[in-house]
Amino acid sequence: MKNSGLNKWIAEWYEKYGDELNEMAHDIWAHPELGLKTYHAAEAALQFARTHGFPDAVKTKAGQGFGFCETGNAVIATYGSGKPVIGIIGELDALPGLGNEDVDHKAPIEGPGQGCGHNLIAGACMGAACALRYAMEKEGVSGTLKMVECPGEEVGRGKALLAKDGAFKDMDIAIMWHPGSGEFSTEPQHPLTVMAGTFEFHGKSAHAAGAPWNGRSALDAVQLMNMGSEFLREHVKTECRMHYQITNGGSAPNIVPDYASVKYFCRALHNDVVKDLYERVVRNAEGAAHMTDTKLDANLIFIIPYFYENKPLCKHLDAVSRVIPEIEYTPEEIQWAKNLTTAYTGEPAPEKLEDLLPFSKKEYEEWGVGTTCTDTADISYFCPTAHIHGGGEIKAAPGHHWTVTACSGSTIGMKAMQRAGKVLAQGGLEALYDQSVIDECWKYFKSLNIPSYDEVYSLPIHDIQEA
Ligand SMILES: [Zn+2]
Repeated sequence: MKNSGLNKWIAEWYEKYGDELNEMAHDIWAHPELGLKTYHAAEAALQFARTHGFPDAVKTKAGQGFGFCETGNAVIATYGSGKPVIGIIGELDALPGLGNEDVDHKAPIEGPGQGCGHNLIAGACMGAACALRYAMEKEGVSGTLKMVECPGEEVGRGKALLAKDGAFKDMDIAIMWHPGSGEFSTEPQHPLTVMAGTFEFHGKSAHAAGAPWNGRSALDAVQLMNMGSEFLREHVKTECRMHYQITNGGSAPNIVPDYASVKYFCRALHNDVVKDLYERVVRNAEGAAHMTDTKLDANLIFIIPYFYENKPLCKHLDAVSRVIPEIEYTPEEIQWAKNLTTAYTGEPAPEKLEDLLPFSKKEYEEWGVGTTCTDTADISYFCPTAHIHGGGEIKAAPGHHWTVTACSGSTIGMKAMQRAGKVLAQGGLEALYDQSVIDECWKYFKSLNIPSYDEVYSLPIHDIQEA
C-alpha cells in the first residue's frame, strides 16, 4: 500500500472528528499550564481519547510509575496487541508570560501561553492516534499503537520522567510533530544537548550603607559567576551556548543580600562537550563563592542528552508526507496572517503566499540545522525516533513568542496540526503493513552504537518533580 495516497479510513476519521479535535486543541490552548502541571490538558486529552476509541486510556503522573492517577499530567493510551509497537508522541505544556488572544495582533493575556504551540502537538498526536486506530480496526491490521501525551517539555524533564516509567522502552518506532515557522519538513535535525542547573549563594546580610563591611553579598557572587561565564565564552567550542537568568537578586538595594540565585542552561551539540562546559560553569560558581566568602549550593536540575534522530524513519515519513494533500488557506486566513505579520514586524507583510505562511518542504535534506533542543531526545535512546516539524505559524514568527501563541489558537495552527496528524497516522499504518520499514530503522539505530540510557542518566534528576 506504500504511497498509494492517504488511507481512506484516516481521511474519514478526520472528516468526521476533525472539528472535535480542533476543539480539544483549542481547549488546551485556552488553559495553558506550565511544566509538569499539565492537569487540565491531560484531562482534556484523556476524555477525548476515551470517547474516540481508547476506552482504557489513563492519566498518569510522569515519573511515578504507571496506573491511573487523578492528578495525572500525562496520558497513555494503547490499542491492539503484539508487535510491532508504533509510538505516537504528544506534548501538553505551555510557556510563562506568553499569553495572547488568538487574534491578528498583540493582545496579551496575563500569564502563560502556548508560545511553542504544544497544544497543536497534543492535537496532532491525538488525531494521528485516533485515526490510525480507526484504520487498524477497519482493516484488521495487527500490531500495537501506543499514544503518549507528555508534560514538561519546556522544563526539559517530562519525557525523562516518562522514560523512567518505561513509557517508551517497548516501542518499535516513535514519531511526533512540532509546529514551527519554517516549511513542514521531516528532515532530521541536529538539536543541542542541555545541562541545566541552579546556583544558590548564601552570604551575610547587612545595612548596605551603615555597615557594609559586615555583609557578604550573595548577589556579588552571582555577578562574578556570570562575569566568569562571559569570559569563558571565548574559550569554549563554537557549538556551545550558555544562558542564564538571575532568579533572585536580593530584596532591596540598601540591604546586602544574604541570598541570591541564578539558573543556567548550558548547551552543546554533543554529550561530552556539554558535560565539560557545565563542569567549567560549576567551577566558576565555586570561584565566585570563594571570592565573596559565600556558600554555594549548586544543583543540576535536568539534562537533555544528544538526540539520535533516525534517518530512515524521517525518510519514511517524508515519502508519506508527499501523498498528504497540502494545506489550503482561505482568503480570511491569509489576511489574518498578513495582519499578524505586520503587527509584529512593523513592516508590510510579504505579498507572496510562500513568504507569508509555511507549506511542505520540496526537497528532503539529510540533516537540517537545528539549534534548539527537545526532550524527545530521551525517547531516541530506546527506539528509532523522528521529530518532524514546521507549519502552523506565520513565517515571521520567532520561536517562543506571543505570535506563536496567537497562531496556535487559530485555524492556521489547526490546519497544520491536522495535516501533520495525517502524516503520522499514515506513516504508522504503512509501518504496520510493511515490516521492512521498521527493520531498516532498527538497522540504522543499531549502527549508531547509542549508549545505554542509564549510562547517560547516571544522575538522580529523575526524582525532581517540581517545575
Ligand atoms: Zn516546543
